[in-house]
Amino acid sequence: MNPNWDNIDSQVTIQQESIASFFVHYLKFFSGKDRHSASELDIYNALAYTIRDHIIEKWLETKKLYNNNEPKRVYYLSMEYLLGRLFTNNIINLGADEQFKKGLKKLGVNWEDFSTWERESALGNGGLGRLAACFLDSMATLNLPAVGYGLRYEYGIFRQDICQGYQVEEPDEWLKFDNIWEMKRVEHTVPVHFGGEVEVYHIDGVEKHNWCPSYTVLGIPYDMPVVGYGNNIINTLRLWSAKVSEEFNLQDFNQGNYIDAVSEKVEGETLTKVLYPDDRTESGRELRFRQQYFFVCCSIQDIIRKFKKESNDFRDFPKKAVIQLNDTHPSISVSELMRILVDEEDINWDLAWEITSKSFGYTNHTILPEALEKWPVEFFQRHLPRHLQIIYELNQRFLQKISVMHPGDNDILRRMSLVEEYPQKKIRMAHLAIIGSTSVNGVSEIHSEILKSQVMPDFYKSFPNRFNNKTNGITPRRWLLQANPDLADLITQKIGKDWVCDLSKLKQLEKYVDDKAFSKQFRKIKATNKEKLAQLIKEKTGVVVKNDAIFDVQIKRIHEYKRQLMNILHVIHLYCELRENKDHKGPQRVFLFAGKAAPGYYMAKMIIKLILNVAKVINNDELINDKIKVVFIPNYKVSMAEVIIPATDISEQISTAGKEASGTGNMKFALNGALTIGTLDGANIEIMNEVGKDNIFTFGLDIDEIKTKRQSNYQPNELYEQNPKIKKVVDLIQSNFFSFNESGIFDPICNSLLSEDQYFIFADFDSYLDCHEKILQEYRNEKTWTKKAILNVARMGKFSSDRTIKEYAEDIWKVSPVFPKKAKKS
Ligand SMILES: *Cc1c(COP(=O)(O)O)cnc(C)c1O
Repeated sequence: MNPNWDNIDSQVTIQQESIASFFVHYLKFFSGKDRHSASELDIYNALAYTIRDHIIEKWLETKKLYNNNEPKRVYYLSMEYLLGRLFTNNIINLGADEQFKKGLKKLGVNWEDFSTWERESALGNGGLGRLAACFLDSMATLNLPAVGYGLRYEYGIFRQDICQGYQVEEPDEWLKFDNIWEMKRVEHTVPVHFGGEVEVYHIDGVEKHNWCPSYTVLGIPYDMPVVGYGNNIINTLRLWSAKVSEEFNLQDFNQGNYIDAVSEKVEGETLTKVLYPDDRTESGRELRFRQQYFFVCCSIQDIIRKFKKESNDFRDFPKKAVIQLNDTHPSISVSELMRILVDEEDINWDLAWEITSKSFGYTNHTILPEALEKWPVEFFQRHLPRHLQIIYELNQRFLQKISVMHPGDNDILRRMSLVEEYPQKKIRMAHLAIIGSTSVNGVSEIHSEILKSQVMPDFYKSFPNRFNNKTNGITPRRWLLQANPDLADLITQKIGKDWVCDLSKLKQLEKYVDDKAFSKQFRKIKATNKEKLAQLIKEKTGVVVKNDAIFDVQIKRIHEYKRQLMNILHVIHLYCELRENKDHKGPQRVFLFAGKAAPGYYMAKMIIKLILNVAKVINNDELINDKIKVVFIPNYKVSMAEVIIPATDISEQISTAGKEASGTGNMKFALNGALTIGTLDGANIEIMNEVGKDNIFTFGLDIDEIKTKRQSNYQPNELYEQNPKIKKVVDLIQSNFFSFNESGIFDPICNSLLSEDQYFIFADFDSYLDCHEKILQEYRNEKTWTKKAILNVARMGKFSSDRTIKEYAEDIWKVSPVFPKKAKKS
């Protein structure tokens, strides 16, 4: 052993004095550049490496801490993480902000100027992936021994370009340059098997199974540090990348089938090529299915490897590990853990099931039926034959139990079965997740109630204690401290900095609501943020908007249930009124949209096209004298949200009641002092309860009224005939006023509204218009508006993801924080 080896453990913690020399070192020896030849990207890279060194020291310490304590660990399984940029976030969470500023001063380098050179990590579609990212931040900040598992997609969510008003998808090449935040861990590579057959044999009269797969793919882990805020804890996000194994599939080469061997290689590596750009409907279904198994298989093997370091008795497994499933995507885990315990660890079925069903928690994210995944039995037969047997066996035993609970009720067996028989034989993955979990949770109070009463009533009646609610949250580090630094500073000046890790402290701001100086500063900050947004709008769209306009914003995935269509119909209505010379007093109104549509979702793409065509007409109409502007900013992503949200006055959260499970965009806006116009849906209801009815604008049918409407004979065409406002707007669209030269392109939108209006846009239209009218009146009173905005900020404490994660840790996971021992005084 090298006698100096121990020195590696002594910390080389970066001091302010050494930051500059680390930076210069990286610039010179990693990039081979000096101050004359360095590009901005080189400077960003050198800065990021410098920060990474700082992180790695603490990362090693955290690993040591967890290894010494051997606590129960949380494994968070999510197919998506929408992390956004990490550079600024890491510096802030490390508390190295000032150190970096001062340390780099003598070089004249301001680190903040280079943050936009980072290619953002966008391995998710929308809210579900961003939630996973906020949860990682909170788990690290709360000292919870947690590991996030995910897939390292070579291409994240597509880049959205706009071409002649249509969305065009381009690949997101986020790995084109070095990804400084990841470290490849080849030593923890795992094999993942697919296909083949199952052999049955007997030992001492006991039936055993041997899965002989037909091919094998390797999972290579890449680790990313997750920096806790101000607590020196660095957790790990482990992302798996697929690689075809020459070792396992060598026979093809040996037999001279070079081409087959190579094409199999390409095929194997497509497993982690691309994120499916839709969290609502499935496309490329079979590949997606294999992707899910690849993810689960890698992650469960890794969890078991870690468990075995600390115990050789699997009965301890539920005391040492809890696996949280972020939606049904990773639910094959239940059958995978059973397979390993029964086939590989030789544990009897009953004990294996006891261990498995104590180890999982399942979070449901949507009640839209198309998102409750069901996989054709054929897929299992082709790729996972042994899992299919296990699922059938589980189902048989489960239905046996249910039939005892409900004697003679065959219908309940059919409804609860893991297997759906008609029209095609499929496995209901949500049912597998429920029976394999100790906890099933929804993501807002109302959503959890709907799960119990409408989506899974049979399961709720059979296992009432399993069901619970965990209302979503957002991390205040990214969504206030980082995104809105001026407001964060103002808050800290008034109430101290404790709010960053205890968001309920914001309540103390209430005593400043009538403080004139405070209100003035608050408004000033919003004004500055608006200037920045106006700049961004000009840069991205060429549209010039006034800095002091009312910014009315809807940014989220484009989906019919989110009702961007209702928003743009309202804009068209306003435009008609202005054209008819209704007086218009007050500031310019800017209606801002951003969001991606799933590439195969025709209606959503046509809604984007309608918004862009309406924007073109209105923005170029001199008759309305700049009273309203409409903008669609392409390629919505986390870093864009960070600019838009702090500048927003009005946050549009207008989904058809009952459709949005929670929403988290709604929380980000209110925390930054925007007022919500929203339906009584998802977390909007809880936001209303917190901020008070006077400080939010709600409208429209509630969940029960929507249900009644759906059951009655809803006739949108009658509303069209009876309501002149609706008629005028629809007629204008149908007259090709917004589609001159593209005659008829919006007919599918109009026809769908007139014949069906699935999302009750006409039913809510008047109420929505009235609500906007009321908002406009209120906005004109600067004093009361500011007061309401301040009260929104002050009362959003509940929606910190720290609160959410504490509830998961206490109620579901039974996991405690781990703190380093205080150094003993010598
Ligand atoms: C917060 C967030 C979402 C979720 O927004 P909702 O309004 O809750 O749908 C989606 N995308 C990004 C980039 C986000 O930051």
